[in-house]
Amino acid sequence: MTKYCGICHRELDKEDDPLSGDCGGDCWGCIGEIEADSGFEPSLEMVRQEFRDGYRNNWIPAPTFSYEIIGDIHKSSEIRLRIKLVRPLGEPWPNETVELKVYLRNLSTHEEVEITNTLVTTNLDGVIQHDFKYKSHSVEQELWFHIKRGSEIWAYPIR
Ligand SMILES: [Zn+2]
Repeated sequence: MTKYCGICHRELDKEDDPLSGDCGGDCWGCIGEIEADSGFEPSLEMVRQEFRDGYRNNWIPAPTFSYEIIGDIHKSSEIRLRIKLVRPLGEPWPNETVELKVYLRNLSTHEEVEITNTLVTTNLDGVIQHDFKYKSHSVEQELWFHIKRGSEIWAYPIR
C-alpha cells in the first residue's frame, strides 16, 4: 500500500525521490526542515546539502532571534527585539522586507491582542532591530511575535 506524508502528502519511500524517506509517517523533506529550524546541526547540514543539490529550491531557513528587556517587565516596559534572517547556505539576508507582528496571546482562548504590526527590512548583516513598548499583561496572556515572509510564518513566544 502506498503511504503519504502526514504533513505535505508526498508519496513516501519513492525510489527516485531522495526526500521521500519515511520518518515515522512524515517525509524527510518535511522532517529535515523542522529539525534544521530547531537548530539540530546534522539535519541542518543535510538540508543545506540537499538545497545545493537542487532538491529544496523553496526552502527558507527559520529566522533566529534574541531580545532584551529595557526597564521592568512587570510594569510598562520596552523590549528590543533582534531578528536575523539567513539565506539557505547560512549567509546573511540583507534588504529583505518582512511583516513583523507583536501580540499578546491568551493561553486558554488563543485570542490575540495586537501590539505592533509593521513591515521591517533587514540591514546589510541580515538583522532587524525593533524596539517596542508594551504594558504588563495578565497571567493568562503570553507575549509572542511572528515574522511573515511570503507564504511562510514563523511565530515565537518572548518569555
Ligand atoms: Zn512531507
